[in-house]
Amino acid sequence: MLTRDELGIVHLVLNTDCNAWDLPKTAESPGVCRFCYRERNRVHTDEATVRRVIDRVRAESDAHRIVFTGGDPVMPYDNHLEPALQHAQAAGFETNLHTNGLLLADRYAALRDHVTLYSLAVDGPDGQSADWFRGSGYFAAFQANIALLVSDRRRLAFNTFTTAASLATLPSLAETITGLAARTPVEYWLISQYRPIGRANSRKADLYAYDREAFTEAVAHVRGLLSGTGIQVYDQPTRAAEDPYPFRVWVLADGTVTADLGSVAAPSNTVLGNLLSDGFEPLVRRAFASRSTTGTSTATSSEKEVTAP
Ligand code: SF4
Repeated sequence: MLTRDELGIVHLVLNTDCNAWDLPKTAESPGVCRFCYRERNRVHTDEATVRRVIDRVRAESDAHRIVFTGGDPVMPYDNHLEPALQHAQAAGFETNLHTNGLLLADRYAALRDHVTLYSLAVDGPDGQSADWFRGSGYFAAFQANIALLVSDRRRLAFNTFTTAASLATLPSLAETITGLAARTPVEYWLISQYRPIGRANSRKADLYAYDREAFTEAVAHVRGLLSGTGIQVYDQPTRAAEDPYPFRVWVLADGTVTADLGSVAAPSNTVLGNLLSDGFEPLVRRAFASRSTTGTSTATSSEKEVTAP
């Protein structure tokens, strides 16, 4: 059995595609989510398999939370999200739905009773700054989701991707988040800097990369602004090619288990096996062993690193 200290959080991926690129870019923007490192969908499963996967994680670990991520898990097709959330909750997991929220309202009624925490992406405090990153109309959709979730007193978290130019908007976004926290529980705010992973190229670096120290200072400033609110502020800075990741485990809904074993320069996560045939604990322990062999930190999984920014 994997203890909670060894593995507290498991990321479950029902699909790796995303609908964000349906939005048009704004006139000033280089494109929608150009910084994203998601893949085309490579998960093929069915509802019974998803349940078996969750059962196997439950039977072999004391993890307390499943993060439903992707791509985006709230898609315009049946990806088994609702039964998966329900099953995870019944198995005793907290459920964290990590979404761009574009279709959240459509599926909210069926999701609502089975989601512990909604983490929403927002990269600026207004339409101009936020839509530059994720497309025209994104901020309006975010505001509608906030209205829905706050009026229903749901538990929230926020993910923010930054550029050198957008750092100046973080204090204003901090003010927005503080205001929301006065009306509904807010657990954390994750602020990210561009990392050259997954289809990285120099064009993306030209658009998004900037000085790590400037990022660290800006996050420290807003962390100060939020002190005393109870909101955790996590930072996800850029990484050099030789830098390791914190240890995270991803479970695809077909049972495939992958982990971040290598450096930022690794083209993709290492596939450990399939938990339905190999067991979950043996695969994760193999990953632990591999990390210690290579001298890489085995810091446990946390919200501090996510699939999609
Ligand atoms: S960054 Fe998030 S919202 Fe944008 S395309 Fe990637 S997964 Fe979708």
